[in-house]
Amino acid sequence: MEENVRAGRCVVAVDGPSGSGKSTVSRRLAVSLGARYLDTGAMYRALTWAVLRSGVDLTDTESVAKVAGEVDLRIGTDPQGYGVTADGVDVAKAIRGPEVTGAVSAVAAVGAVRELLVARQRQVIADAGRIVVEGRDIGSVVAPDADLKVYLTASEAARAQRRSAEDAADVVATAADLARRDKLDSTRKVNPLQQAADAVVLDTTELGIDEVVARLRALLTERGVA
Ligand code: C5P
Repeated sequence: MEENVRAGRCVVAVDGPSGSGKSTVSRRLAVSLGARYLDTGAMYRALTWAVLRSGVDLTDTESVAKVAGEVDLRIGTDPQGYGVTADGVDVAKAIRGPEVTGAVSAVAAVGAVRELLVARQRQVIADAGRIVVEGRDIGSVVAPDADLKVYLTASEAARAQRRSAEDAADVVATAADLARRDKLDSTRKVNPLQQAADAVVLDTTELGIDEVVARLRALLTERGVA
């Protein structure tokens, strides 16, 4: 801890299901800490975009892994706005579309894809030093020695409401999509969505963003890291 304070190192892992408020909370926390921000979901989505473009069968895990291994994936870490490209194509918009959203959990379940991205994510964390990282397996696998691990939850209704408002989509269809992805993400064999044993659990159903960020800041101060 002492060393962290001196070096300004601070790694915060934020995990949880879709619509739990991870992105908004993580970005706001990163800005308030003067830290970088890594959206690991965007990395899985960008690889999925490339896999779909290649036309390989999603159930052919070897081919999926091969395409993933060849993609030149780049992602920024500015919490106020980051770019993401795959083979030089700006995919920021496309990765939020229904095709990618429908396929991403299958691609993310491929062991070789995860190995590749987990290694990239660890490199980004090491380079940044001070960073908030959001995903599904950050506290459990990517950064098990994070200074703070947070697991955000919210009621299914609240999650569907938030996501459908963000995407201007129908709330019933969104709820079905969230339930489908949650199931795939938490039951896959490799690195499923899971709460790290030492994670702080926060239910954001009734909590405002400012309150969540303030609580996390207080926890970091308590731990002497920020
Ligand atoms: O966070 P987001 O909803 O953009 O993530 C999209 C998908 O990427 C998730 O549903 C999950 O399948 C996958 N993912 C993952 N591990 C992470 C981040 C995202 O498997 N660390």
